[in-house]
Amino acid sequence: MNTKDKGFNTKLIHAGVFEDEFGSATVPIYQSSTFRFKSAQDGADCFSGKSKGFIYTRIANPTIRVLEKNVAELENGYDGIATSSGMGAISSVYLALLGAGQHIVSSDAVYGPARGLLEQDFSRFNVESTFVNTASTDEILAAIRPNTKVLYVETPANPTMNITDIAACARIARENNLLLVVDNTFCSPYLQKPLDLGADVVLHSVTKFINGHADIVGGVIIAKDPEIYKRIRHSMVYLGNNMDPTQAFMVIRGLKTLAIRIERAQENAIRVAHFLKDHPRVAWLKYPGLESHPQFELAKTQMRGPGSMMSFGLKGGYEAGRSLMDNVHLALLAVSLGGVETLIQHPASMTHAGMNAESKLAAGITDDLVRFSIGIEDVEDIIEDLDQALAKV
Ligand SMILES: *Cc1c(COP(=O)(O)O)cnc(C)c1O
Repeated sequence: MNTKDKGFNTKLIHAGVFEDEFGSATVPIYQSSTFRFKSAQDGADCFSGKSKGFIYTRIANPTIRVLEKNVAELENGYDGIATSSGMGAISSVYLALLGAGQHIVSSDAVYGPARGLLEQDFSRFNVESTFVNTASTDEILAAIRPNTKVLYVETPANPTMNITDIAACARIARENNLLLVVDNTFCSPYLQKPLDLGADVVLHSVTKFINGHADIVGGVIIAKDPEIYKRIRHSMVYLGNNMDPTQAFMVIRGLKTLAIRIERAQENAIRVAHFLKDHPRVAWLKYPGLESHPQFELAKTQMRGPGSMMSFGLKGGYEAGRSLMDNVHLALLAVSLGGVETLIQHPASMTHAGMNAESKLAAGITDDLVRFSIGIEDVEDIIEDLDQALAKV
């Protein structure tokens, strides 16, 4: 079915889906590592690209292709590449777009291992990196060098909730001959479409909102340009970062409800944010849906809604936050985000523990910061849980 002119929810259900000979309502799981050629000539044609037939699952697989085409259409991109994990997506993109002697400018508050991979590993291959607060275009411009090739942005940033102006970054990227890569995990294509704002590549940890049910780990990359798409697919295939067919089936299943899950979680998050902002034990709260967020206006222009992620600090700092985390019962004390269940965690000692103290401070990842991912439970129960835990702090 051609869904190009259809609405977002219709695309979620139907984009990229092929009709099989039995009329299956769902996408079949092609759990096969390899595919039989019709003849020696057919095998040669598959390898030369003359034929579109499948060869081997690390290269491409019919079930995985459905997910790749679906998300590419949601993001208005050329095509997609599914990966084993979000980090599989990030490592494939770095490998494809960076080489020895080249330089990348990245948001300072990014997913911890995305930064660690550059600082600890790509640095060994003479790839240089600079981390700046990309919410400031001045900081980005000051960091660009003659050998800079990539501008890498996460917005809202993890876990500071800082927002970067994607259209402004795209202008900087064009003027300086860089490729703009956006990690869109926190928003999903329902809330934000970086390619429409001028980005070249968008990637996701589908572990989070896109799958949404905390039952698989996975990633996806979408490119706007066919040549860049080919380079990244080559990296994924050579690194062996491919998704598995059953994993893809699970993601396709979770993805169908993306918009209604996000709408519900966001409705809950707005209520929770209003509860927390007035609470006497809360020192500060950062949520893009509140006017107190420094980039509230920018968030409104590039995001369809404020989403369901927020960070806050308690009066009493880390010890108070720790007591809160030990006293919540409904919210799971766990990393990850974007699932149907409410999660709470402490980045400085958990997801971002690998960063050195100086970088953490510079990026605004303070010791008192607690990250909250609001789920789709009844909001009264989420608030009641927080209320009783805050009373014990
Ligand atoms: C979780 C996450 C990643 C990494 O994804 P994995 O699926 O855990 O490998 C990358 N970016 C962001 C913003 C994330 O939240």
